[in-house]
Amino acid sequence: MDYFRYRQGRLFCEEIPVEDLARDHGTPLYVYSARTILEHYHKLREAFTPPAPAPWQPILCYSIKANSNLSILRLMAREGSGFDVVSGGEIYRALKVGADPRKIVYAGVGKTDEEIEAGLRANLLLFNVESEEELENTNRLAGRMGKVADVALRINPDVDPQTHTYIATGKRETKFGVDLERARRVFERAKRLSHVRMTGLHVHIGSQITKSDPYADTLKRVAEFVPEVRAMGHPLEWLDMGGGFGIWYKEKLARSAREIADACLPLVLKTGLKLLLEPGRFIVGNAGILLARVLYVKESGDKRFVICDAGMNDLIRPALYGAYHRIWPAATDGSVSGEAPDEERWPGPAVASDVVGPICESGDFLAKDRRLPLVRRGDLLAVFSAGAYGYVMASHYNSYPKPAEVLVRGTQARVVSRRETYEDVIAAERIESLEPGARGED
Ligand SMILES: *Cc1c(COP(=O)(O)O)cnc(C)c1O
Repeated sequence: MDYFRYRQGRLFCEEIPVEDLARDHGTPLYVYSARTILEHYHKLREAFTPPAPAPWQPILCYSIKANSNLSILRLMAREGSGFDVVSGGEIYRALKVGADPRKIVYAGVGKTDEEIEAGLRANLLLFNVESEEELENTNRLAGRMGKVADVALRINPDVDPQTHTYIATGKRETKFGVDLERARRVFERAKRLSHVRMTGLHVHIGSQITKSDPYADTLKRVAEFVPEVRAMGHPLEWLDMGGGFGIWYKEKLARSAREIADACLPLVLKTGLKLLLEPGRFIVGNAGILLARVLYVKESGDKRFVICDAGMNDLIRPALYGAYHRIWPAATDGSVSGEAPDEERWPGPAVASDVVGPICESGDFLAKDRRLPLVRRGDLLAVFSAGAYGYVMASHYNSYPKPAEVLVRGTQARVVSRRETYEDVIAAERIESLEPGARGED
C-alpha cells in the first residue's frame, strides 16, 4: 500500500496534488510520502515479531543506500529504526541524524582503515565482516584504539535469489561474504584474535527478491552452522538476515512481508539468536515518485518518443537493469481513481511510446514501447516506485544539476534537498592551466 493515489483523474501524494508540487518546485522532482515509509516500516516489523511470549523484537536496520536523504533518515530514526550502512559516508549520515549507534550494522567488501576506525569510534552494534583479511584488519585497528569490535561474519550461502544478476549477492560467484567452508576457518582463526568478538552471522542474498524460498533456504544453511560456531566458544547473539524484500513495480508478484516472515521465523527461533533485518527497497521503493515534464513528442522511424526533462541521470534503473517503472500522466481521465492504471488494460486511446530523457545516450530511457494515453508537450508524468535506488544513483552526467526532493506528510510538503545549480555541479573542480615547457615536458 502506498499513498500515491488518483482522485478524479488527479494524482495526489497523501493530501497534496502532485501538480502543485511540480508548479512550486519545478521538475524533475522526487516526491516522497512519509506515511508510506512509516507504514512499510511497521508492517515489516510486525510481520517479523515472533508470537507472544516473544523472546525478542527484531531490529530493523534501514539500508541507507536505498535512499539516504537526511530527512528520511531522521524520520526513520525517530521511529526507532536502526540503520545498515555500507561506507564511511553512510556512517556520517547516520550519526548526523542522531541514529543510535547500537542499532547500526556496517557491511561492505572494501572497508578502508579510515572507515573501520570511524565505525569503531562510533561504537557500532556490528561490523559485518566479509573476509578473513578484513577480520584481521578490524582486530588490528580495534587493538590500536584499545577497543573490541563486535563482528558478524557475512556468509555467502550459495543461494540463488532469483532476481536480476546485478543485484544477486548470495551466489557463490559473487564477491560478497565467504562460503561456509571458509567461514569455519575464519571462526577458528577468530578464536585467537583478542580485539574482535564474534557475536553474529550475517547474510544478504540480493535485492528485489519476490519469493520466500531463497530466504528459507539461506536460513536453513545458516541455522545448521550455528551450533558449530557456538561449540567453538563464540558468543553468538545476532542473526542478521539482510534485506532484499521485493516490491510491486508492475505486477503483484512480490510476497507480502507476512508470507516471508512465516517462512523464516520458525527457522530463526530455532537458532536462539535475535533477529536483525536490513530492508531498503521495501521501506522506500513505493514511497517515492519522480515527476517529469514532457518537453517534446516526436515520431521517428516507426517509433513515438515522449521526450521529458528527466533521464538516466535522474533515474538510472531502466537503463542499468532494464527495470520497469509504471508511468502515467499526473492529470489524466477524470474516471481514474486509486492506483495508476495498468497500461495494458487501459480502455481509453493509447499509443506505444518510448519515454526518454535529454541525455546523449541511446540507453537514456525511462520506458520502452509503453502504452500511454496521448500526452502532449507540457504534460506532467509520474514515474512510480522511484523511492529506492533513484536519487541516490543520480549523477551529473551531461552536467545536469540533480533534481530537488520533497517529503510530504499529510497536507505538509517540505523540500528535503534543494534543486542543484550549475555552481553545485562544478563545485569540486578547479581550472588549472598546465603550461607547456615545465620540466620534463615538451
Ligand atoms: C543493499 C543492501 C541491503 C538492502 O537491500 P534492499 O534490496 O534495498 O532491501 C541490505 N543489506 C546489505 C548488506 C546491502 O548491501
